[in-house]
Amino acid sequence: MARVEVRDDLSALEGYHSPQVDVAVRLNTNDSPFAPPEAFRLALAELTRDIDWNRYPDRGAARLREAIASLHGVDAANVFAANGSNEVLQTLLLTFAGPGRRVVSFEPTYQLHGHIARLTGATVVEVERADDFALDVEAAVGAVTTHQPHVTFLCSPNNPTGLVETPDTVRRLAGVVPGLLVVDEAYGQFADWSADELVNEDGNVVVVRTFSKTWSMAAARLGYLIGPRWLVSELDKVVLPYHLDAFKQAAGVLAVGFRAEMEERVAAVVSERERVSSRLRGLPVRAYPSGANFVLFRPTDRSGHDTWRGLLDLGVLVRDCSGWPRLADCLRVTIGTNDENDAFLRALEEVLT
Ligand code: PMP
Repeated sequence: MARVEVRDDLSALEGYHSPQVDVAVRLNTNDSPFAPPEAFRLALAELTRDIDWNRYPDRGAARLREAIASLHGVDAANVFAANGSNEVLQTLLLTFAGPGRRVVSFEPTYQLHGHIARLTGATVVEVERADDFALDVEAAVGAVTTHQPHVTFLCSPNNPTGLVETPDTVRRLAGVVPGLLVVDEAYGQFADWSADELVNEDGNVVVVRTFSKTWSMAAARLGYLIGPRWLVSELDKVVLPYHLDAFKQAAGVLAVGFRAEMEERVAAVVSERERVSSRLRGLPVRAYPSGANFVLFRPTDRSGHDTWRGLLDLGVLVRDCSGWPRLADCLRVTIGTNDENDAFLRALEEVLT
């Protein structure tokens, strides 16, 4: 039987790849090197026993939204939660992008912004960052004025470069974009300010966050958005009913009760990030300043891919960005435990010197 053809606009798209290799030191996916607190694991096991498995979960995820709202000092009606921030991004784009609409991204940035936008049939306008990956604010303002996008993405701290945008930049862009300004703060807790202070009922700023990095919960797939109420109710119409299972809702509510432990983990990662960055400055690489839980670097005397291979041969896996557009020879290392970071630094030194 003849195979049915995929949509014309999808046939040229490539999927999202994040190769996993079984090695001793895995520093390639920007998740947390620390397990959640033992008390969290035990309490979650208890809660699991009490779930009404034969019943659909709370469709509105009321307790979870309240718990998340308390983290940001907003109302539960300002919170939309989903299966990882990727599903938040997808729901946003299903609601506000689509055929005949435009989405702007500042490249290089998180690949899924453009990828999901294209899946919805929208036109993606890629605006270039400067050579050092900083955002040229006036060029950005010019681009959104010309292209009149329905959705503009600003990833801060930016993946994969680590750069944090200033409040002035975010305010300036929010003042000129004709549609939504989506500030993707998947790494927001590692930086020293958040655009959540710019979210208001009459505004066009939404902030996207995740439990995958700081809350040591990448396996649970939980992300959320803080935005105006009207926007949250539009997203609720688009997302599938009962998309958040009861286990995830319980895990999220429980996690919010462990905020102090989460903040300790973030502080440990930030301090390790500074140590790794300063050690990189003594090696033949250009390391980019990072406000996230990873550092982007480019070896100066050796190809990025050969360096990646050399690290892998020594049992250390980092993300090979060297073949990505605009990122020739770049590698991205996720900050791990002290021991993992030492193993990375030792291996890099051996490969490069
Ligand atoms: N946004 C950015 C910028 C990311 O780097 C990631 C994770 N790679 C995500 C969103 C998605 O994270 P999750 O779906 O695990 O919440």
